[in-house]
Amino acid sequence: MGVDPKRTIAELKELRSLTADENGAQRVAWTDTWLKARNWFESRLDSLPVEQHIDPAGNRWVTLPGESGRALLLGSHLDSVPNGGWLDGSLGVLAALEVMRRINEEFHGRPPITIRLVDFADEEGARFGRSLLGSSAFAGTHSVEADRVRTDQNGIRMDDALRRCGVDMDRFPDARAEQKNAAAYLELHIEQGPVLENLMLPLGVVLGTKGVERHTITFHGQEAHSGSTPMKARHDALAAAAKLALEIRTIAGRHPDAVCTVGSVKTFPGIVTAVVGRCEATLDQRDLDAKVLAQMYREAREASERFAREEKCTVEWSRIWNIEPIKFHPELVKRCHEAVAHTAGVAHELPSGPLHDAAEVSRAGIPTVMMFVQSIGGISHNKIENTSEEHLEMAVRAFDRLASSTMNWLAG
Ligand SMILES: [Zn+2]
Repeated sequence: MGVDPKRTIAELKELRSLTADENGAQRVAWTDTWLKARNWFESRLDSLPVEQHIDPAGNRWVTLPGESGRALLLGSHLDSVPNGGWLDGSLGVLAALEVMRRINEEFHGRPPITIRLVDFADEEGARFGRSLLGSSAFAGTHSVEADRVRTDQNGIRMDDALRRCGVDMDRFPDARAEQKNAAAYLELHIEQGPVLENLMLPLGVVLGTKGVERHTITFHGQEAHSGSTPMKARHDALAAAAKLALEIRTIAGRHPDAVCTVGSVKTFPGIVTAVVGRCEATLDQRDLDAKVLAQMYREAREASERFAREEKCTVEWSRIWNIEPIKFHPELVKRCHEAVAHTAGVAHELPSGPLHDAAEVSRAGIPTVMMFVQSIGGISHNKIENTSEEHLEMAVRAFDRLASSTMNWLAG
């Protein structure tokens, strides 16, 4: 009786040996290796009295029917980035499977509520640059028209690649039907950052996913000869951008969990003998609090205008993408806190910087929470991604406890 976390670790290793090469995991969505991972996963279900199918967006659903149709959803994603790690996503799917086995055993195949496992398709967006694809179709936030024409590096269209895997993008909106009876969603995931390790904690309670503001900021100055133009006469677009790149550290530093990044700077004409006439920088800002995010955005804009004036330049902003912060359900956060505290002795609450399928499920209005387990060195999306086996076992046990607690809440 009970969950067997060692079985989860053995299955994770088996999946790794099937789908990784010397550079790491290669389970990129809509590729043969991903299909292989999914077929392997399907073979794990043979001994369970479950119904399973792939929905119109390519998500796999495994259902253990209960006395009540109300459903507790457990899931994550089996796809990986190229040269990825062995735990990102697959830990959540295989831990969910182990919890489903335990529930099936405990209730002799008929739990009080229905349990559904989901393996979301294409969480990473590694091939077509569109992350959270399957979960956004499930949530109804996906726009087919925007994605159909995306192509991969070889010029293969997204809709063609999906059709090869039996998925018709025109039917994406029908994936929303899977929301029926969904009463809660739980996801276990590796942290992919250094916070828990720095606190020397195995597990964390995730409060939500940070909102993102992503912009291109272009400073316009004047190209001029680097030899003949006196320092005081310059309109140096790079100087203004450089000041902003430093200022965003101060802007983020005023809030405990906020992050701001200038990830790219391009200079034009970009030659050694010319003052920079135009400079394009990108800015990515994140926080769990929408007010903080809005304030940081305003402050960065004001700072950019100030620096543009100081350097006799002008500045223009254009939004690349944004998403609002998503806070997880207070009752489930409380129950996750209790499960983590019981298993690890102490429960730390933290926001997630990366987005996850859980964010899309939450956007659909389904009560959601995530649990994190420590990542060694905070490293992910890399073949060296790792978590100690001791911590993996604790994670499966704590996640199982959270599932039981959530079942009680839903059945009560
Ligand atoms: Zn992931």
